[in-house]
Amino acid sequence: MSGTTASVQLAELDSLDFHVLINDEIDQISPSLNCNVRHAQSFAGVPLDEVADPSSRGGAKMEMPMHNICCGAHGLSLFITAKLGTQERTLLFDAGPEAGFLEMNAERMRLNMSDIDVIFLSHWHRDHSGGLLSAISLANKDKPSHAKVTVDVHPDRPDFRGIMFREPISLQADPTFAEIEAKGGELSLSSQPKTVLGNMFMISGSVPRQTDYEGGIPGGIRYMSSKGAWEPDELISEERFVMCKIKGKGLVIFTGCSHAGLINIAKHAKSLDDSPIYAIIGGYHLADASNEKMRRTMDDLKQLEPSILMPGHCTGWRFKLLIEHEMPGQMAPIFGGTKYEVV
Ligand SMILES: [Zn+2]
Ligand SMILES: [Zn+2]
Repeated sequence: MSGTTASVQLAELDSLDFHVLINDEIDQISPSLNCNVRHAQSFAGVPLDEVADPSSRGGAKMEMPMHNICCGAHGLSLFITAKLGTQERTLLFDAGPEAGFLEMNAERMRLNMSDIDVIFLSHWHRDHSGGLLSAISLANKDKPSHAKVTVDVHPDRPDFRGIMFREPISLQADPTFAEIEAKGGELSLSSQPKTVLGNMFMISGSVPRQTDYEGGIPGGIRYMSSKGAWEPDELISEERFVMCKIKGKGLVIFTGCSHAGLINIAKHAKSLDDSPIYAIIGGYHLADASNEKMRRTMDDLKQLEPSILMPGHCTGWRFKLLIEHEMPGQMAPIFGGTKYEVV
């Protein structure tokens, strides 16, 4: 079955929310300007601790310690909860760059990581996979004995990824299939679109490249030990996304880094389910894009008529500025440590 012609049967959710466990930037203060996105503002989302002796502080019973505020880190991890009737299912979308940040922010957000049913990896890049093994341990910790969290990854895992400057610069290796299994993950290798968790989530296959201006990472390379040499790998062709559908609203697309291109991803999502695009959430990877690429992306984005744009991670401030200028009121950028309800 080709990824371009497959269709999937997504359940229509009552509602959806997600906690941003890891994102490059944090902002505990700004309000939401899109009435379809709800989140705390003015520090109201930060957990408070009790003051041991209120009489010593003029009667103040609660304290907002700085160590309850999440930290930003280059990467992405989203704890997504889909709701339908009495059912709630949770998918962890990527795991950020380092175990320490994932563990620390999960603790600071008071997240019950055992609620995670599936861990999904969007692509083999360390800023998304670095916390993966830790996420498996946390997800399995309080599950009934022998229950294993499913870890869904694409089978095309390079031994290393990197970038060619004057010489190859390597990233750290992503977790191997053996490491994922040894940590207690139920490994699921998938390259074709499919639904999971009672059809509440769709996991895409690779994304067909349709536009002529979304070309991946200039200078991207991969190393396979079996070949013994670095090879060009600009497309990051195994990259996948996750999609949900909200009743009466439309598609909610979660994207990791958009190396496949924001527009290619949105068009492919529509080819899998021809509902209106309601929201696009995650990394748009336009931080280092040319003005022309940003212009063409914006023109095509408007044609797709999304209601909500929630850029984060590698999107970059220039494209966020462009969205706010050309599609005012539609953007609700995501920030680490914040819970968002899409209504
Ligand atoms: Zn990436
Ligand atoms: Zn990334």
